[in-house]
Amino acid sequence: MGLASTQVSMKMAVVITAIGLPTMYQAFVTTKNHVWGRPMNPFQMSKIKEARDFISSKQSGSPAGAKFAEGTALTAKIRVHETFKDGDSGEDAWGVTMQYGQIAGKVIHLKKMAFLLDKRLLASLLIHESVHAHQWDFREKPSENEAYQIQSDMLRSWGLTAGDIIQARDLFKEGSEDVNDGFLDDEMSTFVEYGVADPAWKR
Ligand SMILES: [Zn+2]
Repeated sequence: MGLASTQVSMKMAVVITAIGLPTMYQAFVTTKNHVWGRPMNPFQMSKIKEARDFISSKQSGSPAGAKFAEGTALTAKIRVHETFKDGDSGEDAWGVTMQYGQIAGKVIHLKKMAFLLDKRLLASLLIHESVHAHQWDFREKPSENEAYQIQSDMLRSWGLTAGDIIQARDLFKEGSEDVNDGFLDDEMSTFVEYGVADPAWKR
């Protein structure tokens, strides 16, 4: 009896570990996803509303392959961060979206500075991060190619294309000029880096 019950509990332990650990990990990540950072302040909420109103106003012309990201961009919970810098890497993202932990509602994390962008640039950032919110499968890493391609395709469908940086700057006059410039610079580099086809912006 002693041996048999030991064998059963060993088996149960294996089963519980196999099912329990991924579930606990998912629960942990899901919770972190919802509580990490801060909620938006009234200014940030008004900026997100402007960006979302812009996305909605253009919805009829958006590419079919981008509809899933568009829906998430319009509804995801937003959490705010001072910065995403860790250590001395000097790298800082405009937004971060967890690959896991999106089961209990989609969440997008944005850097505080992103709220100073022209609403149309902020809208494109929401689209980019929304693509990541759907990348749940076991890829080696979140696909930046897909996120930048859909972001670029949306910018094109919104009529916001530019042949060089001067043209691009002329398009975006709202928000902070410096912040817009920094964003344009980053996106133009990454469109090239990730091989975006028919990029909305070229240098
Ligand atoms: Zn990304």
